[in-house]
Amino acid sequence: MINDIEIIKTEATKINEVDFDNLAFGSVFSDHMLECDFKDGKWHAPKVVPYHPITLDPSAKIFHYGQSVFEGMKAYKDAKGDVYLFRPLENFKRLNISSKRLAIPELPESYFMDGLKALLEVDKAWIPQQEGSSLYIRPFVFASGNGFHASPANAYKFVICTAPSGAYFSGKVKVLIEQTYSRSANGGVGFAKAGGNYAGQFYPTQLAVEKGYQQVIWTDDTNHEFIEEAGAMNIFIRINDTLITGPTSDRILDGITRKSIIDIANAEGIPVEVRKISVHEVVEAAKNGTLKEMFGAGTAAVISPISGFGYKDSDYDLPELDNTYANRLKKIITDIQTNKSEDPFGWRY
Ligand code: PMP
Repeated sequence: MINDIEIIKTEATKINEVDFDNLAFGSVFSDHMLECDFKDGKWHAPKVVPYHPITLDPSAKIFHYGQSVFEGMKAYKDAKGDVYLFRPLENFKRLNISSKRLAIPELPESYFMDGLKALLEVDKAWIPQQEGSSLYIRPFVFASGNGFHASPANAYKFVICTAPSGAYFSGKVKVLIEQTYSRSANGGVGFAKAGGNYAGQFYPTQLAVEKGYQQVIWTDDTNHEFIEEAGAMNIFIRINDTLITGPTSDRILDGITRKSIIDIANAEGIPVEVRKISVHEVVEAAKNGTLKEMFGAGTAAVISPISGFGYKDSDYDLPELDNTYANRLKKIITDIQTNKSEDPFGWRY
């Protein structure tokens, strides 16, 4: 028991089958998971149990109505073997913001935080120490209750699984500024980490991949006029020395990496503007040489530099700079996350 959380340990660890020096992203899973049920109108205490398949009735509402939300976070192990999370309460709060929008009952903070701590305690050996690697943590909540009636379920499951992971993307990505599809709309669910938001991105992303790009830059749903997000990341654009990112809204996820980067850039004296940025402004900056950098920001990739973009039928390359904001900011944030530097913001947990 850890804080009243029941722990049932596996009898056969899989850890010896894992090559910690060659980890892909999110493809091997640690020995245990956290499981917590909502039924009879309330959440019941979570348990740490061996990693196992989940059995559901074919009428479970997750299958038909996509009532599900998730989070993505990481645990890091420093040189001494101490374990750190990065702003985990922000993930907890965002999970409940997402749940509320999807009519899923919100979780008590202690079930999320104490459950997560208990799981990490049990699977501590799964947290990689290798440079650039971490234990990716996937909390999620879905409708496990049954019935074809298109209404919220009466039962849900909250689960946390973890996956020791290496880097998400390797190298720079070439992106396509989307002019047909949208990932979100005013009054919609774009600000929530709802499973269906990602399903809706796959097809437009496949079309972009067929054209030779790796990711889509999402634009506003009204006229595809303003830059909003980069795949499943927030986006930053550097014009001359100023770093620009769009304001969060109904349509944009309030990324924890994004807001941390804004605070770090401010502390570093990098000029930052949080404002709408139009596709026109970015294309003009690319043409006149003032566009210096573009990068995505999110937990999985941390910072993912963009090498160039496609817009309508033209491609634009970004310059190869020696000293990029992307590298500078990535080093500062990852040093804080992995306990290699001071944490003046109090983010490490
Ligand atoms: N936008 C979207 C759509 C995302 O899925 C993510 C990943 N959670 C982000 C932005 C980045 O958010 P964070 O920095 O909190 O991981």
